[in-house]
Amino acid sequence: MSGLQAHVVIVAGAGPAGLAATAALSKAGHEVIILNRDIKFGGLAEYGIFPSKLKLRGGLKKQYWELLQQKNVHYLGNVTIGKGKDLTVEEVCGLGASAVVFTIGAQGTKAIGVEGDSAQGVFHAKDVVYHFNRLPGFGDRPFDMGKHVAVIGAGDVMVDIAHWLTRYKKVERVTAIVRRGPVERKYNPKEIRSVCASMDLDGIKAEFVRIKDRLAKVGQNPDEVLKAFTDEFTKCEPAVSETKMGFRFLASPKRILVDGNNRVRGLEMEDNRLDPKGQDTVAVGLKEYYEFSCDSVVFAVGDKVDETVGLPYKSGLFTTNPNKTGNDPDDALFQAYDESTGQVIDGVFLAGWARKASEGLVGVAKRDGDWCAEVVERYLGAKGKRGDVKIVLDRLHMRLQQRQSRPVNVNGLRALDVAERSFSGKTDCIGEFKFSANQDMLKYIEQKSV
Ligand SMILES: Cc1cc2nc3c(=O)[nH]c(=O)nc-3n(C[C@H](O)[C@H](O)[C@H](O)COP(=O)(O)OP(=O)(O)OC[C@H]3O[C@@H](n4cnc5c(N)ncnc54)[C@H](O)[C@@H]3O)c2cc1C
Repeated sequence: MSGLQAHVVIVAGAGPAGLAATAALSKAGHEVIILNRDIKFGGLAEYGIFPSKLKLRGGLKKQYWELLQQKNVHYLGNVTIGKGKDLTVEEVCGLGASAVVFTIGAQGTKAIGVEGDSAQGVFHAKDVVYHFNRLPGFGDRPFDMGKHVAVIGAGDVMVDIAHWLTRYKKVERVTAIVRRGPVERKYNPKEIRSVCASMDLDGIKAEFVRIKDRLAKVGQNPDEVLKAFTDEFTKCEPAVSETKMGFRFLASPKRILVDGNNRVRGLEMEDNRLDPKGQDTVAVGLKEYYEFSCDSVVFAVGDKVDETVGLPYKSGLFTTNPNKTGNDPDDALFQAYDESTGQVIDGVFLAGWARKASEGLVGVAKRDGDWCAEVVERYLGAKGKRGDVKIVLDRLHMRLQQRQSRPVNVNGLRALDVAERSFSGKTDCIGEFKFSANQDMLKYIEQKSV
């Protein structure tokens, strides 16, 4: 397919989903323009995945660099889409591309909805993760965690936060607060290796004694559950701090307790029991409350999409077409849909965490991007008129100039890469040097790139 015959597709977001869609669509010969909020590509592969996972991060980075070298891939970082941002959704859709794919992830924060959640020492997991991965806007912000941190959640993100707290912050104690029981834990057994050397085994045994009758009532044998739970503490990464980690099960935070300076001093917790629900269980509050002391609280309970972007939104998600098409993958699942008009938004698609917030690992987001590209290909196949990438790019640059935006292309990324490598002796706690402010990055980029 020559450049003039190809369709032009805009992909908003350069995380694993957007870059997978870009790879498939560019391979099919289309011209792909990527617009990304962050200067750097990668999304949570750059700013979410734990810094010490060097092999995973390095492999993805290499693959993404290769993609961005393709002639028919046009990268522009530092371009945020949304009301009052560099471009609105309507402006992006009006640039003349044949299709626009939104893969902007789940950038919203789930409302915690408990009294006291604005106290000092209450954090959202995503902000903490962005902080230790040095995302601009978060990297240099102070995150005063105190000595005893309660992390609400039982998934991989809870483990990542605990990992950072034990290995780098070296706090005294981390307690994972879990609504249901140990059987219902959600983290991957491999992930717990990063913190299992810090486990307070006596404390965990005592916690099992506290909840054993409630486990037995739903047919869970407490001894067997304890064994299965602690058997996963193998191949532990060596401990590098005195931090102790424990668990508090069958517990729902109801209120954040604060001191006279509005600083967290604890949680009011409700005890839960488990009730069977089909093959699963459900937590039921016992209306028995107690105080749990801690200095800070991190909510690691998943994210929602950013409803302020300007895409149709409902209940934490951007809305997609509810009417099945029967194709495989089903086109409807990826088509943006406006419930107020009952219409599909022609040529606008969603993939990755922008389609299903907080769903799965990089592989799942990549597969979603691949599937979305198949759906977009079908759409483009039925669309006669093709676009001219030069015209779309000219319009885009004109708009960005009007807004005094400072987009960063692949040459700029190369200059940034060189600059960051030259600082590699000055690594901070995360093991690689990263500028944590856009201004610093832009200084190097605009000096060195053409
Ligand atoms: C703490 C944490 C740890 C994880 N660890 C692992 C792991 O170890 N292994 C693993 O396989 N998976 C891991 N994951 C999951 C993995 O990161 C996600 O599955 C994946 O990154 C989702 O990809 P995405 O492209 O949908 O979204 P994202 O990765 O979030 O990418 C979204 C992109 O959109 C851009 N963007 C956002 N808003 C806008 C906007 N308004 N305008 C323009 N661009 C925008 C962002 O700059 C970003 O580049 C982890 C996730 C988290 C949160």
